[in-house]
Amino acid sequence: MSEGKKQTKEEVIEAAWSARERAVAPFSNFRVGCAVETDDGRIFTGCNIESASYGLTVCAERVAIWKAISEGARCFGLLVIAVDTENPTPPCGTCRQIIWEHCRDTNILLVNLQGQTEELQIKDLLPRAFDARYLKEISRDKVGSKK
Ligand SMILES: [Zn+2]
Repeated sequence: MSEGKKQTKEEVIEAAWSARERAVAPFSNFRVGCAVETDDGRIFTGCNIESASYGLTVCAERVAIWKAISEGARCFGLLVIAVDTENPTPPCGTCRQIIWEHCRDTNILLVNLQGQTEELQIKDLLPRAFDARYLKEISRDKVGSKK
């Protein structure tokens, strides 16, 4: 984690590439790095970490977001996902949900080793997303109801 002044976009991208170097992907060899920048200029990184019990594998995006949240960060300005693929690679469905819930207005930047970039918003990747608003609707409507 670095902190202090606001980071440049290039510094956040570089942090994502550095994180990718630490990926643990012996089964897929699909190495991903992620860096999230907080509104106060801190950068948190994550890499994908695979498990021999495949379902326990965790994506780079969630590692970075969990690290940031566990250190008290709540507002993010930029989230970079770095993958060595022919085209910039968007986050998986699980990560889209987590990005929606914790990084809703964050700019998402996809980068690959060929230098291609693509900027997105999570609302474009996860239309009509599920979140806590629906939980509140249920609890409000069903309070005191046996049905
Ligand atoms: Zn994911």
